[in-house]
Amino acid sequence: MLKTVTIRFYEELNDFLPADKRKKKFEHNFIDRTSIKDMIESLGVPHTEVDLILINGCSETFSYLVNNGDDISVYPVFESLDITNLQRLRVKPLRKPKFVLDVHLGTLAKYMRMLGFDALYQNNYKDEDIVRISLKEKRAILTRDRGILKRSEVTHGYWVRNTIVEEQILEVINRFDLKKEIKELSRCLLCNSLLSNITKEKVVDHLPRKVKKFQNEFYYCKNCYKVFWKGSHYTKMKGIIDRVKLLGILNNSKRDQT
Ligand SMILES: [Zn+2]
Repeated sequence: MLKTVTIRFYEELNDFLPADKRKKKFEHNFIDRTSIKDMIESLGVPHTEVDLILINGCSETFSYLVNNGDDISVYPVFESLDITNLQRLRVKPLRKPKFVLDVHLGTLAKYMRMLGFDALYQNNYKDEDIVRISLKEKRAILTRDRGILKRSEVTHGYWVRNTIVEEQILEVINRFDLKKEIKELSRCLLCNSLLSNITKEKVVDHLPRKVKKFQNEFYYCKNCYKVFWKGSHYTKMKGIIDRVKLLGILNNSKRDQT
């Protein structure tokens, strides 16, 4: 049986479509069982460009099987107006968010990396650098300076309300729905690169005596050559993670009661 959906692509996704399908709803016919991912790609739009799919008003994943009569909206990774509104409907973007932080948020950047979030930061970034990186790498700006978010070219940014770092990290986790993304000891605290495991034999000659004796698990940053182990910084990090999880639970139950 021939099935029909109505579909609309937003913003720069239209670049992949022929002129008669751009920036408007159009009908699309199909026969076989098909996932929304395959349908989007059959229309010429690479799925990597897509961040949010609404089907009959609900946020769906790429594996959704399309039904006759579905009303489909497809949004790109970096779209400002609509996404902001839609987030109020509690839709979840398909991608893990990435961040670039302003110069006032160095400690938050370190905390974010401790939890495994992709948080770019350098203490010499100028506003122009932050905006350029944000647009080029599709990173949301985290800032304490509302001025930067008022620049017309900025499309994704968030003004961090809290000034205490434990509260800031919790605020960011809640705002971007990151609780399930926590992955400790996965990212270099110094440069944000992903860490790899490394055997003790390879690093043993460079270790302090105490570490040599008590530690057996090591992580290595291929970018800045820093080696990490579960020493005192790890204990401190675990404390922070536990606090974040606990605060998250407390906050949620507070919200449920109201
Ligand atoms: Zn590093």
